[in-house]
Amino acid sequence: MSVLTDLIYGGSNAVAGLTEGAVNDAIAKYGADKPVAFPDTAYFFPTIYAATGVKVTKLGDLPACVGVLKSLITNQEDLGQALNAGLATAVGAEILEGLKYVEGGNPYEADSGIGFVPDPIIRSLGVPLVTGDIPGVAVVLGKADDPADVVKVVKDYQSKGILTFMVGDVIEQCAEGGVKMGLEFRVVPLGHDVTSVIHVVTVAIRAALIFGNVQPGDLGGLLTYTKDRVPAFVNTFGAIDAVVVSAGAGAIALGFPVVVDIDLAENQVPGALESVCDHSLTVKRSLELRNIKIKSKELPIPVAFAAAFEGEIIRKADVHNEFWSGKNATAELVMMADNVEDHKITIVGPDLDSGERNLALATKVEVSGAKMQADFESVIERKIHAWFNYMEGVMHTGQRNQVRVRVSNDAFEKGLRLTHFAEVLYHMIMDEFDAVVDKCQITLITDEAEAEKFRDEVAMPRYNARDDRLSSMTDESVDRYYTCILCQSFAPAHCCVVTPERLGLCGAVSWLDAKATNELNPQGPCQPIMKEGCLDERTGRYETVNKMVKEATHGAVENVTLYSILEDPMTSCGCFECICGIEPVSNGFIVVNREYKGMTPVGMTFGELASCTGGGVQTPGYMGHGRHFIASKKFIAAEGGIERIVWMPKELKDDVGERLNKTAKELYGIDNFSDMIADETICEDCDALMEFLTEKNHPVLGLEPLM
Ligand code: SF4
Ligand code: ZN
Repeated sequence: MSVLTDLIYGGSNAVAGLTEGAVNDAIAKYGADKPVAFPDTAYFFPTIYAATGVKVTKLGDLPACVGVLKSLITNQEDLGQALNAGLATAVGAEILEGLKYVEGGNPYEADSGIGFVPDPIIRSLGVPLVTGDIPGVAVVLGKADDPADVVKVVKDYQSKGILTFMVGDVIEQCAEGGVKMGLEFRVVPLGHDVTSVIHVVTVAIRAALIFGNVQPGDLGGLLTYTKDRVPAFVNTFGAIDAVVVSAGAGAIALGFPVVVDIDLAENQVPGALESVCDHSLTVKRSLELRNIKIKSKELPIPVAFAAAFEGEIIRKADVHNEFWSGKNATAELVMMADNVEDHKITIVGPDLDSGERNLALATKVEVSGAKMQADFESVIERKIHAWFNYMEGVMHTGQRNQVRVRVSNDAFEKGLRLTHFAEVLYHMIMDEFDAVVDKCQITLITDEAEAEKFRDEVAMPRYNARDDRLSSMTDESVDRYYTCILCQSFAPAHCCVVTPERLGLCGAVSWLDAKATNELNPQGPCQPIMKEGCLDERTGRYETVNKMVKEATHGAVENVTLYSILEDPMTSCGCFECICGIEPVSNGFIVVNREYKGMTPVGMTFGELASCTGGGVQTPGYMGHGRHFIASKKFIAAEGGIERIVWMPKELKDDVGERLNKTAKELYGIDNFSDMIADETICEDCDALMEFLTEKNHPVLGLEPLM
C-alpha cells in the first residue's frame, strides 16, 4: 500500500476503535435509551442521516452506525475505497462529537470554539453565499510552525470575505496575532479536537438537505451536491498524523480539496491533495483549486475594506468620532440630479481631526445617467449601510435621517478622514451600479446648521414622497412581476416570484430591487413576468407566472400561486426569514422567525418547521417568506389572509405589529389585531393557545375549516 492509503486506513481504524469504545462506554453509563442530539437542528446526526437516512435520537441507535462505519473501511489499495474510509472517519467524528452533547448544555463552553453550528445560522448564510458576498469556505486546521504564517493566511481570507472555520491550536495562534473572530467577522473557531472539524462538514451536508432537496440516504446525491455547490477547501498547518489524513480523505470524498504545508512529494493527488510549503502561495492555490474568483476592491483609503468587517462593534471607549441622530442632525440621501460633476467630493464643515467628538453628518449622493430612474435611488441608498460598515474601524447603523456612525481611534490613527467615506461611496456605486449611473458626486455635511437644513428641506420631503409611492404600489398597480433565481446555486429547483406586495423570501429582494437588478443585468437572475393570463384572482394564478417559473426551474415546478399557502404555494429555497405553518387545531397559521429558538404550539421549533419545506419543493401548508410580507394584504390571502395568524414569537409580533394592525383595520375593521395573536410569553402548546384565542375572540374561530 502507498504511504497515503496506509495513513488513511491507519487513521480511520483508529477513529473506528475510539468510536466503538466511546459508544459502549456511554451506553454502559447512561443506558441505551438516553436521548442524544446536537443543539437546534432538525437533521439528527447530519452526516449519518444524510448518508444513510438513519435518525439517531438515542444512544442505542449508535452501535448500528458504528457497524456501518466499519463496513466503509475495506483496507484496499484503491483510492476510491480509501476515500470511503475517510467518510468513515467523518461518521466516527460525528459520533464522538455527538457524545459530548449527551449531558445537555454546551460542551464547548470551556473550549474557545463554538462546536456544532445550529440550522438557523446555515440558513442565514444562504444569501451571502449565493450573491458571492461570501465567495468560499475555508477550513484551517492544525498548528503553524510559525504563527505569523497562519495569521497572514486567515487575515487574507477575511479580507476576501471567505468564511473561515478553524480547528486546533491555530485558534490561539490567530487570536494572539490579532485576528478578529466570531461569525460576524467570518472567522469561526470550531474547537480543539480534530473531530470538531465535523462541525463544518455537517454545515455542507445540511446545506444539501436544506437547500438542495437531497434525500436522506442518497449518498451519491449528497457527494455530488457538496462537490459541485459548496465552495469549501481545507488548509492544514504543521505536522499531520493519520487521523488528520483520514479526516482529509473524508473532505476529499465530499469534493473539498486539501492543501497541506508539508512536502507530500509523490503522494500528492493533483486537484485533491496538494503540498504548498510556501505560505505566501497557500491562499492563491486554495482559491484556484475551487475556482473561486475574488472581485478585488482596491480603494484609496487607509483602512481595510471587506464584508468581514460588517459586524464589527466599536465600543464607547474606542470611539474617536460619532455621528448620531440622537445628538446631531443626520441624513443619507441618494438623488438623481442634473449637472453632476463626476467624482467631485465636497466636505462642508469640520473633519474627523477637528477635535469635535460628536458631529452632524448629512450624506448627499447625487447621480445621473441615461438609464437612471428615481426608483433606483433607494436601492443604491440602502447599500450605504453595508459600504460604511465594510471599512475596518467604522460602524454604521440605521438609515435615512436615523443614523449612527462611529469611527474608532485606531481607524483615525491610520489616517481615515471624511473624504475616504466619500471615496468608498463613489467607487462602490461606480462598481455596482455602473449600468445605470454615469456620473456621481458626493457631498458630506458636518456643519450642524447646514446638515439640519439639508435634512429638513431636501431629504425629508424626498423620503416622504418615496414612502407614498411605495405604499401606493400594489400588485394591481404594476404590469409586471419579477423572478429571482439567485438561490439556484444552492437550491437548483427554486424560483421566487417577487411582486410589489410580496418580497423575496430572504427579505433582501423587493420588487424595486428586482427591477433594478433586471435593469443592471438584463440577462441576470431577475427576469420580468408580464402580468397576463389571470387564471384565478383568489389564489393569484397566472399563465405567465406558471410559464416563467417552469422555465426558470427547468420544469421542476409547473404551477405556482402568489397568494395561497395550500394550493400550489411558492417554493422555498431554505434561506427564508420566516416560516408560516398550519396550526390544525385552531384552523390558523403560526409564523416563526429564524432567530426564535424556543418551542411553538405545533410542537416544532423553527428549525423543525423549516425542515418541512425547502430545496425548491412545494409543501402545501408550509411556506417560507420574508418578514415584511406578514403585514401585506396578500399574505395567505386565498386562505383568508392575516386573520388566520394565531401565534408568533413576541419579537416578531412587536416588529410587525403596527403594520399588521393597520392592515387588519383596513381589511376587517379589527382594532389592535396583534393583541389577539398569541406568543411564547402566553403559550407554547395548542390547548393554551385555544384558550387564549377563545378569550380574545380571535376571528379565526369564525372562519371555515382549512381542510
Ligand atoms: Fe434567493 Fe428568493 Fe432572495 Fe432571490 S429573492 S435571493 S431567489 S430567496
Ligand atoms: Zn434562498
